[in-house]
Amino acid sequence: MELLGWTAVELGARIKAGEIRVTEAAEAVLNRIEEKEALYHCYLTVDRERVMAQAEQLQGRLDKGELTGSLAGVPIAVKDNICTEGIRTTCGSRMLENFVPMYSAGAVSCLEKAGMLLIGKTNLDEFAMGSTTETSAYGVTRNPWDISRVPGGSSGGSAAAVAAQECFAALGSDTGGSVRQPASFCGVVGMKPTYGRVSRYGLVAYGSSLDQIGPITRDVTDCAALLETIAVHDSKDSTSVKREDGSFLSALKEGVEGIRIGIPGDYLAEGLDAEVKAAILKAAQVFKEQGAFLEEFDLGLTEYAIPAYYTIASAEASSNLERFDGIKYGYRTKEYKGLHQMYKKSRSEGFGTEVKQRIMLGSFVLSAGYYDAYYLKALKVKALIKKTFHQAFQKYDVILGPTAPSTAPLLGESLSNPMKMYLGDIYTVAANLAGLPAISLPCGLDTKGLPIGLQLTGDSFQEKKLLQTAYIYEKARGVFPLPKERK
Ligand code: GLN
Repeated sequence: MELLGWTAVELGARIKAGEIRVTEAAEAVLNRIEEKEALYHCYLTVDRERVMAQAEQLQGRLDKGELTGSLAGVPIAVKDNICTEGIRTTCGSRMLENFVPMYSAGAVSCLEKAGMLLIGKTNLDEFAMGSTTETSAYGVTRNPWDISRVPGGSSGGSAAAVAAQECFAALGSDTGGSVRQPASFCGVVGMKPTYGRVSRYGLVAYGSSLDQIGPITRDVTDCAALLETIAVHDSKDSTSVKREDGSFLSALKEGVEGIRIGIPGDYLAEGLDAEVKAAILKAAQVFKEQGAFLEEFDLGLTEYAIPAYYTIASAEASSNLERFDGIKYGYRTKEYKGLHQMYKKSRSEGFGTEVKQRIMLGSFVLSAGYYDAYYLKALKVKALIKKTFHQAFQKYDVILGPTAPSTAPLLGESLSNPMKMYLGDIYTVAANLAGLPAISLPCGLDTKGLPIGLQLTGDSFQEKKLLQTAYIYEKARGVFPLPKERK
């Protein structure tokens, strides 16, 4: 159906003009989901009746002139670690198989306020720990570009759903790259905003000092529109920042003259796939042709980002996941003798292997004997990385590089070599450690026909500059194709 090919903003405009009814758009997306889910498995929960009732209601509000935003009536998918009132939120874990939140996350309330239509909850790596969506307790999601490959992770369901036209946009969460990397593998746009830009209230915490909710969309304009919708101060999140510069669509102007772009030489070194490298350098050339100032520089500390990230993220995860004990939330084992065995068995049966590994690693680095040697040291490295970026942004407006060292791996390949999988986060984790905004957008296909992601990183709260830079590239690149239709 033609309307599925439109961007979120295009659909929003047509809904507003009365050319398309919300129910029509909803119906088209639901039919598409029905047709494609057996193949891709992007969603964990889709409730047709609820969606249609919601669509009717939104159309009514539009007819009355109550909804005026650019995305009113547009179907959106939400990662299943973001709480939705009355709708199951599993975090891809057995632990929360039957968890139905009593409230919606701050970001979801923003979507509702804007009149967007929540179409369903998407698959993810268990508690957002992973890079492939394979650690989900509910089965793998397949990459719409090649179903023998992963969609990336942990927001793989969201990215695959956008690429497969099973929604018009989606929300993901990014602790170390989980919005940007799956966006890169699925040939769509994904952005991690500055830490504090989007409310974390109701996002089930993984690494609280690193987590941010971000948009996954078909293009940069949709990304700006969705960010504008969710970047709202929330008094329920103490790290949410009040700012007046949230009109991101207005930042999408042409012309890069005067923009200074730095390419870290350390991002182009060993470990980067040759085809990805060539595509990134070609994209850089596009900026040069447009009149941007461009140079390679030495960012430094790149090799320390991964160990620091996994130390801090695991430490915070071990603490955040303590609450899942069989009493307060979630799964409780059927048979047990005494309280301690109940805790032990509930957690052993409720969590998967990857999550258990992280909890163990995190508890270890926080334990009395090792706290200074690992956790504290990682915090110091985090501070140094932040400083390194701060210095770089004295000289450059935007830092350009790859999103991931390779294109999407085959299913099964990553979990058999977890070290390689962790190293795959090398270009994304620094933005989380330093709290910076970063965006991934498609910049070509490799010889296997898989999308390659270009990552642009900006200084704190410089999302406008970042989006503008991405927009200019996108304009010069032209429309990026959707994956080929599969029967
Ligand atoms: N792949 C990283 C991890 O497993 C990032 C995950 C994320 O951003 N949620 O921790």
